[in-house]
Amino acid sequence: MQEQLAYLLLGSNIGDRRANLLNATELLVLNGIKLLRQSRIYESAAWGKTKQAHFYNQCLKIRTPLSPVELLDVCQAVEKKVGRVKREKWMEREIDIDILFFDNHQLNSARLTLPHPYIIRRRFVLVPLNELAPSLVHPVFQLPIDTLTNLCTDDLECFPI
Ligand code: ADP
Ligand code: MG
Repeated sequence: MQEQLAYLLLGSNIGDRRANLLNATELLVLNGIKLLRQSRIYESAAWGKTKQAHFYNQCLKIRTPLSPVELLDVCQAVEKKVGRVKREKWMEREIDIDILFFDNHQLNSARLTLPHPYIIRRRFVLVPLNELAPSLVHPVFQLPIDTLTNLCTDDLECFPI
């Protein structure tokens, strides 16, 4: 199968957040994911349940021969290995690995929505992504990431550490 480009967003707000991001990246690479670029690490206020510790977020540009669902399997296996424990939705987490874009795929299945549905509403996604791919056009909204970042009304802070 042909290799595809994808963008992942890593997040962590428990334990050694920087080490969790680093471990996750290393394990992704050990699982055959080719790392093309990494954004800086950003610190962002927690979304949804706002009384939690701030997140560290980082965007990765990768290349993979895997299918979208196979990539999700790898991401979830890596989350487990880094030490993610199951908690309620939007609760704190050791590591979260979300697939933002997988080439230009649009998909809506029980396990996987592509592009990730929350990209346009969350600064903590858009800001790191915009560092790597400002002119990438969102296949649903048909606007580039820099425009979507400027239009985003989320006012939770997100700054490089
Ligand atoms: P969060 O939505 O906060 O990232 P989880 O990491 O617990 O919550 O993910 C919940 C479910 O979201 C996963 O079990 C996965 O099947 C699903 N999911 C749907 N689309 C995606 C995507 N694009 N990337 C990662 N997970 C996704
Ligand atoms: Mg997730």
